[in-house]
Amino acid sequence: MSKINWQKKIFVFLEKFFRKKDLLKKKKINAVVTTGPTKEYLDPVRFISNESSGKQGYEIALELSRLGIKTTLISGPTKLRYSHDIKVKEVVSGNDMLEAVKKKLPTHIAVCAAAVSDFKPLSIKKNKIKKDSKITEIKIEKNPDILGYLGKNNRYKPKLLVGFAAETEDLIKNSIKKMQEKFCDIIIANDVSNKKIGFNSDINEVTIIDKNGKTQKIKKNSKKFVASLIAKKIVDTFLLNEKSLN
Ligand code: C5P
Repeated sequence: MSKINWQKKIFVFLEKFFRKKDLLKKKKINAVVTTGPTKEYLDPVRFISNESSGKQGYEIALELSRLGIKTTLISGPTKLRYSHDIKVKEVVSGNDMLEAVKKKLPTHIAVCAAAVSDFKPLSIKKNKIKKDSKITEIKIEKNPDILGYLGKNNRYKPKLLVGFAAETEDLIKNSIKKMQEKFCDIIIANDVSNKKIGFNSDINEVTIIDKNGKTQKIKKNSKKFVASLIAKKIVDTFLLNEKSLN
């Protein structure tokens, strides 16, 4: 390709990028992203949790913000050092996370990337349970499903709802099922059977699936790169659905 053609391509790309960014900024489009694990304490030192570094959700929040969307990251306990470019609300439990999400409603876009613990202890002991105590069982109950809450919310359902599906088998089939059950517009299917990617790694491999059944596989790459493609899909789908904005 000639130098002139390259220059033209770069110019068109930048022009599109800044036009979209201006539009999203001007229309004050906002997003909430949940990320990280949650910790469900049983006593002051012990808890139930999930494996999760929070990196993928964090990178998505950064990308959305870079694209001109006012983004709040609601993060469970992670080791991440958050950039000052985005607003971060740190939470501990699944209940805290749900309350923080509720405070951000209504929102145009919600991305639920958090690995919320499915269960929490029925009660939290004020003092540390002694090793020699006669405890033989821990009673647990289900945590609130934040994505499910948003999907079924008649009043404040986000215009675009994105969920994650971490699966070890039948990735696409199970992810589509989850997308339908939780009324999502887009689901990010994450094969977590491969220990070298996902969870605590900087690398991920996902398939983006939308409500119309369109799939886009993103091959093994940095979570930053994966986030840039997910954020692009989110923005393009949002703008396509909200034609009145254009
Ligand atoms: O844990 P599960 O595979 O059901 O997670 C699927 C999606 O639901 C993910 O997007 C996750 O962030 C979300 N989720 C949630 N609240 C829960 C459990 C899962 O928002 N309690």
